Amino acid sequence: MAILRFKALETVNSRTPVVLDFPKERVTSYFGSYVFDKKKMKEFLSPEVFKALTRTMETNQKLDPSLAESVALGMKNWSISLGATHYTHWFQPLTGATAEKHDAFFDMEGDEVMEKFRGSALVQQEPDASSFPNGGIRNTFEARGYTAWDPTSPAFIMDTQGGKTLCIPTVFVSYTGEALDNKTPLLKALNLIDEAATEVVQYFDKDVKRVIATLGPEQEYFLVDSALYNSRPDLIMSNRTVFGHAPARGQQLEDHYFASIPPRVQAFMMDFEFEAWKLGIPVRTRHNEVAPAQFECAPTFSEVNLAVDQNSLLMDLMDRVAEKHNLRVLLHEKPFAGINGSGKHNNWSLSTDNGKNLLSPGKKPKENLQFLTFFVNTIKAVHEYADLLRASIASAGNDHRLGANEAPPAIISVFIGSQLFDLLESLEKNSDIIEKGDNLYLKLGIDKLPEILLDNTDRNRTSPFAFTGNKFEFRAVGSSANISAPMVVLNTIVAQQLKLFKAEVDAELEKGTKKEVAIINILRRYIKESKNVLFEGNGYSQEWVEEAARRGLNNITTTPPALKAYLDPKSRKLFVENGIFSERELEARTEIYFEDYVKKVQIESRVIGDLALNHIIPTAVNYQNKLIVNAKGLKDLGLGEASYSASLETIKEISERLSVIKTKVDEMVEARKEANNIEHSDAKAVAYCDSIKPFFELIRYQVDKLELIVDDEEWPLAKYRELLFMR
Ligand code: ADP
Ligand code: MG
Repeated sequence: MAILRFKALETVNSRTPVVLDFPKERVTSYFGSYVFDKKKMKEFLSPEVFKALTRTMETNQKLDPSLAESVALGMKNWSISLGATHYTHWFQPLTGATAEKHDAFFDMEGDEVMEKFRGSALVQQEPDASSFPNGGIRNTFEARGYTAWDPTSPAFIMDTQGGKTLCIPTVFVSYTGEALDNKTPLLKALNLIDEAATEVVQYFDKDVKRVIATLGPEQEYFLVDSALYNSRPDLIMSNRTVFGHAPARGQQLEDHYFASIPPRVQAFMMDFEFEAWKLGIPVRTRHNEVAPAQFECAPTFSEVNLAVDQNSLLMDLMDRVAEKHNLRVLLHEKPFAGINGSGKHNNWSLSTDNGKNLLSPGKKPKENLQFLTFFVNTIKAVHEYADLLRASIASAGNDHRLGANEAPPAIISVFIGSQLFDLLESLEKNSDIIEKGDNLYLKLGIDKLPEILLDNTDRNRTSPFAFTGNKFEFRAVGSSANISAPMVVLNTIVAQQLKLFKAEVDAELEKGTKKEVAIINILRRYIKESKNVLFEGNGYSQEWVEEAARRGLNNITTTPPALKAYLDPKSRKLFVENGIFSERELEARTEIYFEDYVKKVQIESRVIGDLALNHIIPTAVNYQNKLIVNAKGLKDLGLGEASYSASLETIKEISERLSVIKTKVDEMVEARKEANNIEHSDAKAVAYCDSIKPFFELIRYQVDKLELIVDDEEWPLAKYRELLFMR
């Protein structure tokens, strides 16, 4: 009985931290050593090729095909010098994970082995990838898709099990040109915001030629011992525990957050940080999170495309390094019921090519008007497209988290801090604009901005979209997500808003209005129009749910209705007119998201059914039989009912609970059969959400009660106290 669980517990007890062989050198001497960055390009490419390639990278342009051969040669020589034997195009299909297919650096010429890596293989490949999600874009007759190098993200070497592979970041598109990945639309959205923001910056600073969106993603995760992980089929299958009674002690003592890091965990962190640094990923922060066994890491921010690539790579890296430490990383948004889930806080801002953060106020009033312009336009964009932002973070996993009083709610709102809030209010209400010089700013309080922000220390952890002094933090993103989708939406909606703003300002300028006056008047109107989305209070509270409803803000708590926002006319117009997605791409992509939701819930439903029937029911029946023997024995001894009444009660309780479990599992299986007959994936997703998922809690409730009464020695699943506290 419960053999696997007890073996696992024994194993955990004998674990010691893995001893690491760290380099003695300083970080700076090996940081980025596995990245084909400018320094290596300079060394391995001719000066002309180096110049052409860096220009391509800086201006986001396609690589001139005539250069490919030389670049490939340089890249090959560099990676071989470090021991690489294979290369791969590295891309991010819509599975949410990363994909790679390794090819060796040699080829046969007759019967001779030749080292080879052609320019054509660098620039483009045709993976036979018909089994990646494509939402119907590629039927199997047209199975070809191709990957093409994205020179704006540097190539790197992945070191796994002693084998080294040169990885070339690529986009992944269908043969007919539709995007099948996370990177393609992201690059388009980043170009869009660059163009739109640069035009607006011109009102303030003519020297700016480019605007770069920046991102610093904080990553939360859980760690459990791999032996315990392997003893839980639900963790293996669905990355979350579908059963498990709350432990006597959870996170109520609040003693885990920022506490000292356990030794095995610390060894793991140091190990993956070391690997990350070699790959040029600037992971800087590490700490314990609120829940037991929950942790966080955060890199220094960078340009969005690179930050997204590096976050994907980091998730992969953490997973692989954890194995070495006999740990498993749980990136699921809600691995444990009743315990905080995990998110990924997307810190986002806009920076000019001369290094000015556009969401950071400056010293001069004019710079502050520039700040306010970007600040208010971002708020307005979130207000206009709140449903689309909600859609961009929708997933089966994140549904457990949003609105569970521990993570930002599914209601999209913006927190800006009381002082900025007051400033916007006075800006909106103050009607007399004096047109002379800095007086204008004084009157409106804009001159006081720097001081205001210096002591803008209030932080609101309950807001999904919070301003934190010099950036916005989109906190509702799920921990397992590829963060490209929310970044595509955020950058596209802000770009769209900036374009509208520019058109309005230009129209005023044509009428002869003074520039500053035109800008302020338009911003004041925006504040009025989008004030509804500003919320400073406790986002976890029931009052906010009610208040938001009064304000007409949506509270979309589940994925299927949330995803629909991608397809409403306003979103279609936004994406198509800005060239981010074609209609076909948008439909295919949404279809993939619906399918993904169905698959995830379906897997959980199956795991619940299997575990209930194969693990829980037999265990409870065995224990019940023991009690029956016991009760009978006592009765036979003539000891009277009082001696066996406790056993009798438990016997009855087990029967009642088992009967509910069995009935509900049967009903759930029936509901699944019905749902599986539905053809359209959106309707199928709704069925999975509304008629299958509700069984999960009903079954779980009974199972968790049984966990409390069945003999601990026989319980087959590692318990919460073991998963969360043993390491
Ligand atoms: P916390 O939010 O925990 O107080 P920080 O504010 O220091 O921590 O930063 C959190 C993340 O925000 C880090 O990844 C950091 O690099 C990133 N960040 C800081 N400034 C910017 C910026 N201008 N644009 C994007 N991300 C930023
Ligand atoms: Mg933060």
